[in-house]
Amino acid sequence: MTDDLFRSDAYLRECRARVVRADEAGIVLDRTVFYPQGGGQAGDSGHLLVADGREVAIADTRKGKDAEGRATDEIVHLPAPGQSELLGTLKPDDAVTARIDWERRHKLMRFHTATHLLCHLVPQPVNGCSITPEYARLDFHMTDPLDKEALTTGLARLVAAGHPLAVSAITDAELDANPALVKSMSVQPPRGTGTVRTIRIGDAEQIDFQPCGGTHVANTREIGQVIVTKIEKKSATTRRVVLGWAA
Ligand SMILES: [Zn+2]
Repeated sequence: MTDDLFRSDAYLRECRARVVRADEAGIVLDRTVFYPQGGGQAGDSGHLLVADGREVAIADTRKGKDAEGRATDEIVHLPAPGQSELLGTLKPDDAVTARIDWERRHKLMRFHTATHLLCHLVPQPVNGCSITPEYARLDFHMTDPLDKEALTTGLARLVAAGHPLAVSAITDAELDANPALVKSMSVQPPRGTGTVRTIRIGDAEQIDFQPCGGTHVANTREIGQVIVTKIEKKSATTRRVVLGWAA
């Protein structure tokens, strides 16, 4: 399995690592700061710096899959096309520096944290989520209309309040006893290790608390100016809220 350093520190921009295997289908390292696409959040891009100073461009990051298509504990760095010669020189146990595109990731962290604030403002089940550097969207399972301006104002208030974010964990048994903690209908928290990672926003006043495996900023103030750019009625029972950066 790959040691996923971003889970305990989302602010790590690079790490030293060793190659487990490398070919055009993907590069697996023993540890990484690259977040693999999941929970609606886009995978990281960046570079792997090789000992002789050359760089392998990484276009995207995914979870590994076994022969039956089930997710494994491996993280696969997908090389940008046209690097077969350089990839051919990478051997198991080679030392590399894995460095993410931090500007892009920071946008993902800011948007991702903003989607948690939306969950506070719209306390309805979520049945879809997509977080990219350019926009984020959440689909709420609900029939009532939503007000774009009111949500933008609500987000601005929660950002300005500077609520801290804390990462913790609960046991599978605690989660089973509190099924309402899972607000997402589309993404189930990863089980199997006995504990589930949780995100709490706010200390004196709890803004949001739910299982989440993504990357977040440490304080809501760091989100900056996000606005609701669109509210769509995707179906009779789905309202889609799209977030963008303020101009
Ligand atoms: Zn999250």
